[in-house]
Amino acid sequence: MPLPADLHMHTPLCRHATGEPVDYARRAVELGLTEIGFSDHSPMARDDFDDWRMLDRQLDEYVAKVRLAQMEFPQLTIRLGLEVDYLSGQEGWIRQLAARHPWDYFIGSVHYIGESWDFDNPAKLSEWKKHDPYEVWSAYFERLTQAAKSKLFQIIGHADLPKKFGIRPAQSCRPLYQTFLNAAAQAGCAIELNTAGLRKDCREIYPCAELLDLAYRRSVPITFGSDAHAPAEVGMNFAEAVALARSAGYAESCRFTRRQHEFVPL
Ligand code: ZN
Ligand code: FE
Ligand code: FE
Ligand code: ZN
Repeated sequence: MPLPADLHMHTPLCRHATGEPVDYARRAVELGLTEIGFSDHSPMARDDFDDWRMLDRQLDEYVAKVRLAQMEFPQLTIRLGLEVDYLSGQEGWIRQLAARHPWDYFIGSVHYIGESWDFDNPAKLSEWKKHDPYEVWSAYFERLTQAAKSKLFQIIGHADLPKKFGIRPAQSCRPLYQTFLNAAAQAGCAIELNTAGLRKDCREIYPCAELLDLAYRRSVPITFGSDAHAPAEVGMNFAEAVALARSAGYAESCRFTRRQHEFVPL
């Protein structure tokens, strides 16, 4: 089987990635991928919210860059998505974004605890010292559960992102995983196997095998994403991710066209 679609990749518009969509597409073709999707960090309602995403006025430019890659690589299926930060109260803004272009999918990601701590930002690492890890995990999964319930997203991104720096709670997080997965199953949204975790201190795919096993039992569909912030990262460690998915029981993954899903054998 060919490798599954890589549905999570960025562009320089987010200010912390390199390479144009055409460069990511070229790399995908080199690797023999048949489908990719762009999911750069979406604008927030306020452009001064943080400094690691595209500005509102750049949304059309983003779409144009993806369209250019589609024209230059007609042999490759290239999807148009966004990685959207979920914070409560942003639902109206996210619906507005959804109406602006014919998106194939939105990845809903939680990078914020509260309104101002982007806990996966290396610049905010010292904030971790002020919190018990389990408190962070609990707040994170509570928000992730709300994201799934909102039905704004086709895919939930890197579902155990708080492990990024290798800081982990002492107690079991299983009940948090279960609550989240029940919401995902009910809302019909997928989770992604995100290989960027292998390139971080946690040295592990997001999500962990325990969460993925529970997801399979709850019939939550999966997608794959490299979370590439450079062309060389496209499709990275996908063989390992497919092996992990298979070991959890999965035999198919999901692809999206205009927010409609379709299953593809693994
Ligand atoms: Zn990023
Ligand atoms: Fe993310
Ligand atoms: Fe990302
Ligand atoms: Zn991401």
